[in-house]
Formats: sequence, structure tokens, C-alpha cells
Amino acid sequence: MEPNKVIIAGGGLVGSLAGCYFAKRGWTVEVYEKRPDPRAEANKGSRNHKSINLAISARGLSAVERLGPATYSKVKSITLPMYGRMIHDIDGKTLHGQAYSAKGEYINSIDRGLLNHLLLDQLDDHGKTARNNVKVVFDCILDTCDFKTKTARFRNQVTGEVIETKGDLIVGADGAYSVARRRLQSATRVNIELKYIDHLYCELEMKPKIRSDNSTDFAMQMDHLHIWPRGTFMLIALPNLDKSFTCTLFMPLATFESLKTPEDLSAFFRKYFPDALELFGGEETIAQEYFANPKGDLFYVKCSPHHYKGNGVIVGDAAHCTVPFYAQGMNCGFEDIETLDRLLVEQAKISQGKAAETGDDSDIKTHNLTPEQIEAALIKYSDCRPRDSASMIDLALHNYVEMRNNVNKLSYKLRFMIEKK
Ligand code: FAD
Repeated sequence: MEPNKVIIAGGGLVGSLAGCYFAKRGWTVEVYEKRPDPRAEANKGSRNHKSINLAISARGLSAVERLGPATYSKVKSITLPMYGRMIHDIDGKTLHGQAYSAKGEYINSIDRGLLNHLLLDQLDDHGKTARNNVKVVFDCILDTCDFKTKTARFRNQVTGEVIETKGDLIVGADGAYSVARRRLQSATRVNIELKYIDHLYCELEMKPKIRSDNSTDFAMQMDHLHIWPRGTFMLIALPNLDKSFTCTLFMPLATFESLKTPEDLSAFFRKYFPDALELFGGEETIAQEYFANPKGDLFYVKCSPHHYKGNGVIVGDAAHCTVPFYAQGMNCGFEDIETLDRLLVEQAKISQGKAAETGDDSDIKTHNLTPEQIEAALIKYSDCRPRDSASMIDLALHNYVEMRNNVNKLSYKLRFMIEKK
């Protein structure tokens, strides 16, 4: 019997993780990614318009761990723990540490590009070692897909070649502007809520500091997420393995528009982020970065259901794009894939007469599930994931006020001082 075939649109963080899971479970896997291969020398360092680094939490790591210990330890090896927030006062001198947990728990900073490379490498390895067929095609954009016939049409952006493919399951992992989500709406009744917030973001690099002996070091304490909360806007910074920090300025559109010249920007940074200005390397450096780097929109998408019959499902930002203030967008996307895998495994176990909730799942295969069994898993998936991700989006909207304003309140600072004692 031919194994089931999954067609995955999008080879970003969530699409590549999904590919690894389906390959592990014995499926024939086809992943189509619109960008060129990010691991190719010519494309290394090319700027994805999303963040350079992000925070991976227990939620995301759990999904990586379920894939297997080797992948987990590789991912862990490229993370940097952040044990709390480091609040930078407007005086440019005072710092307040606010631990995330009294028990020493932490979140992790990780490079988006490195994580994507690692997952794509894992996917390639599955293709080489397992007998199942794994194909990852770059430069191919999803033009359209039909969830009723389980067909998809991709177009190679370099050669113009059109690829028509048919599978047993279509997975839309094509991000916030998802084509798959729109096509799901053509197949079934999907409720969608999309809202832009009035704030945008701009990334700025804080290079490592150079010591007198020419060695390098982090410019700030590297085991914290740094925040400059300024009421209606904020600057944050996450550490990178190369000892730089990726800083992100979140501000209302009107504030971005008010900073028209390098002089405007210098005055703004001198007033609100005096210590950061110095750490960035001065007014000229910051102006070069600020005016060259894109200003990204921020919006959220809530939608339900996420699936159509046993034929297709949307995951990650395609299903629930969020504002980034709770640092759970990718983490939630990873949880989607873990949940989907658990539900498919549950069906496989039921079909084998095994108890669904017991035993080690690592060797269970799901590639022989019938359309009805896949549908049973997807119904359960749509029962939980839209609700969970909508809650995460609400928490993220709330946490923006927390980060840019509340952490600065005296009562808040006192609480952390008391907890420290
Ligand atoms: P994407 O990362 O967008 O990947 C989608 C992929 O599909 C891309 O590779 C794209 O090229 C490809 N694609 C798009 N359209 C097509 C098409 N038509 N055909 C084929 N391929 C296509 N999340 C966290 O968990 N922690 C954080 O700290 C965090 N920080 C963030 C900071 C910022 C500033 C932003 C904007 C987001 C942040 N997020 C964070 C959210 C996180 O970036 C997303 O949730 C995550 O990238 C979603 O992964 P994805 O694979 O679903 O989508």
C-alpha cells in the first residue's frame, strides 16, 4: 500500500517542523517554499522581513523534543537562556532586573534563520535515511489549492514552471498572508477576524562591544530580555550567539512618521533611550540602520475552523497570526504541529487496537490512515486549536501594555524588589 502523501505549502519554521513530523511518521512529504533555499551560500544572511531572532519557550521546545532527542539537543545548542526582563530607565543609568520565575525558569533567544536551517536539514536527513520520499522544492509559490480535490498548483518563480500535485492531505503553512487560508474559505465556512494594530516595528542591530584586547563581548547583560518601556512605545533587545543583540522598536505609526531626519531620530534617542544610543555606537550608526530597515506592520488573524474534512488543514501563522508581544506566535505554531501529530497518532493507535493515551509514541506510523481517520483527527484539531490560539492572541495584545508601560510602574518595581529579598 502506498503511504499517504502530504503537500505542505511553506517551508518556514512551522512548515519545516511539520515536514519533519510527517516524514518521521512514514508519509511521503512534499514541501513547497516560495523563497530560495535559505541555506545556500548566496542566500545566507538575506533578511526575512520578520524578526531576526525570537524567543522559544517550553511550548515550542516541547514540539521539538517530541521529534526526537537529537533534534532537541541541536535546537537547544543554538539557544541563549533569558531569565527575566532587564528594564532600562529613561535616565539612561538605572537598570531593574525582573526575574520570570522564582524557580529560575527562563525563555530562550534563538536565531530564526539558524532554526529554519536546522529544521530543513532534519527534513533532508529524513529523506536520506528513511525509506519514505521527502521532496523540498524552493522558489515555488502556492498559486492555488483545492481542498475538495486535494490538489495544489505551485509556480516556480525562477523558471516559470507550473507544478500540479495531488495528495492525501494539504497543509497550509504559508504564513500570515496565507493563500491556503483563503482557499480553505472557498471550500468551507471559515470565520475570520483580521485586525491591524496602530503600531509598527523596526529592527536595529546592537553589535558586540570590542574590548581593548580586540576580543568581543555582549554590550549588555546577555541572560535577560532588555526592555526600554516608554508608555506608548518601547524598545526591546534579545541576545544572539555572535554576542550582538537584535533590538526592536515598537511604536505607533504617527511616531514613526514624525522621525523624518537623522536629527529628529538623534533627539528622540537622546531623550528616550540615552544608554541604548551609546550602545548602538552613536547617532550616525543608529540613523543608518533606522532609515534603511523596513517598518513592519503588526496584525492578528483569528479563524475557525482550521480544516476541511480529512483533506486539508492550516497551521502556524496561516491559521493564527498574532502580534508578537507574548512571544508565542512560533511557539503556538509548533504546538499546532505537536497537537496534530498526537491526534493522528491517536487515530493510528485506535486502528491498531491500542489504548490511545498509553505507551511510547516515537515509532508509531500514521501514513496508512484512511481519509475518515484523518478527518477524525482534524475535527479534534479544529475543536481545540482555534480557541487556544485566539486566547494567545488576546494575551499578546494585553502584554503589549504590560511591556511598554506597566513594567515601569513603581508598584511593579517594588514587587520585584520584595520578591528578590
Ligand atoms: P512564516 O514564518 O511566515 O513562514 C511561512 C513560510 O511560507 C515562509 O517561508 C514563506 O516564504 C512561505 N510562503 C508564504 N507564502 C507562500 C506561498 N504562497 N507559497 C509557498 N510558500 C509561501 N514568535 C515566537 O514564538 N516568539 C517570538 O519571540 C516572536 N517574535 C516575533 C517578533 C516579530 C517582530 C514578529 C513579526 C513575529 C514574532 N514571532 C514570534 C512570531 C513568529 O515570527 C511567527 O509566528 C512564525 O514565524 C510563524 O511561522 P510560520 O512558519 O507559520 O510562518
